[in-house]
Amino acid sequence: MLNFEPSEEQRLMRDSVAELAKAVLFPAARRHEAARRVAAEVRAAASELGLGTVLVPEHCGGSGLGLTTAVLLEEELGRADAGAAFGLPGPGAFGLALCELSTADQLVEWLGPFTAPDALDRYGAVAWSEAGPNRERAGFSTVARCVKDDQGDTNWELTGEKCFIANAEHADRFVVFAQLDEALGWRGIGAFVVRRDNPGLSFTARHATLGLEAASFGAIKLESARVMPSAHLDKPEFLLATLRFFSKYALVVTARALGLAHTAFELARQYCDTRVAFGKPIGHFQAVAFNLADRLMDLESARWLLWRAAWSWDVAKPDGACLLASAQAAAQIHEIAMRCADDCVSLHGGAGFVRDVLAEKLMRDAKQLSLCGPTVATLDQLASALELGGDLGALDPGLVLPTPDTQAIFT
Ligand SMILES: Cc1cc2nc3c(=O)[nH]c(=O)nc-3n(C[C@H](O)[C@H](O)[C@H](O)COP(=O)(O)OP(=O)(O)OC[C@H]3O[C@@H](n4cnc5c(N)ncnc54)[C@H](O)[C@@H]3O)c2cc1C
Repeated sequence: MLNFEPSEEQRLMRDSVAELAKAVLFPAARRHEAARRVAAEVRAAASELGLGTVLVPEHCGGSGLGLTTAVLLEEELGRADAGAAFGLPGPGAFGLALCELSTADQLVEWLGPFTAPDALDRYGAVAWSEAGPNRERAGFSTVARCVKDDQGDTNWELTGEKCFIANAEHADRFVVFAQLDEALGWRGIGAFVVRRDNPGLSFTARHATLGLEAASFGAIKLESARVMPSAHLDKPEFLLATLRFFSKYALVVTARALGLAHTAFELARQYCDTRVAFGKPIGHFQAVAFNLADRLMDLESARWLLWRAAWSWDVAKPDGACLLASAQAAAQIHEIAMRCADDCVSLHGGAGFVRDVLAEKLMRDAKQLSLCGPTVATLDQLASALELGGDLGALDPGLVLPTPDTQAIFT
């Protein structure tokens, strides 16, 4: 027996998030975009609803509801405003990274503070990306070196620059990826938790993104930022754990993209129902009707792919199956979201690309969403490697992680 319906508990949660999304986030979307921040009262309302800690395990004070529930809720946020979904407080990608990369003690130490009563406006962030290709060798330019302090204890020191970090401006703590062993390329990387008040860490710039402007994406600099050995996230099978983190995060991001795609479809359908040309609503012309029918099929198939992928993780299917389902879902949904947003603009005609119609914002946000984590090309790369029966340990991290290494066509 297959069950295609969310549980009663999931439906109730989804309804309360949908209510907040419709009543508060959607009407404020343009205001949040212009202010380049979600309003304080909206952030507080989302935190009180527990939105930021859905994926935080129960033993760390969160609700530990799992990815399937998380994607149901994220879709509702994405329907209202995908930008705001990134701009709400909570550990976000930081929490997901820790769940994969840290030990049980580290998890409680670093994630626990997000569920404290005073943590309603706390953010976490993940610093993976770097500006400028590293042409000298594979791996990060940001390096981590072992150093001895005055007492003779060994610490780590991180130096480098990271960019495109969601919520870098507001984050209280970061998971920072860095190169531990330069000779090992992508197989020589590691990760550390660095607190914002570390004297070696500074926020350097907010990027002027074209989409998702209610959220902030920015860069940080690490100048001999010193951290204790306990901040080193030294999980065995580190690369596989990192891949699991990116795959799960990709599902959260694509759930937002699916919500956005749904809104684009609804907006287009309403317009095609009301805009009359040549004596009838334009939706009654076959070319337009078929377009709408195709986009709805896209949406239905996208949702099943997403739910299947999230469910695979929740029921602990083997890593290979979960990674494949996630890559397939995320790659497909980014393309579907872009198609829905693009068609929404086109079906509005000239009205579709002006600032006072929502279609243009959906298109900008859809594009930005597809660049927030592994791109469609990287997801395709991962899916094809897994489909071709690649052993997980043998995957080339330079190709299947969101690294700046592109597949060599020219030698
Ligand atoms: C809004 C936003 C939020 C983000 N949030 C974060 C964050 O919180 N933390 C963080 O660290 N980073 C974040 N990023 C960065 C994001 O992960 C990267 O931008 C993304 O993974 C693409 O990497 P890149 O920019 O280095 O592009 P590159 O890797 O240089 O890729 C350039 C192009 O080449 C293609 N390509 C790359 N590899 C291959 C391959 N093997 N085969 C074929 N084609 C390939 C890519 O698809 C892309 O089209 C964010 C980005 C954006 C725009």
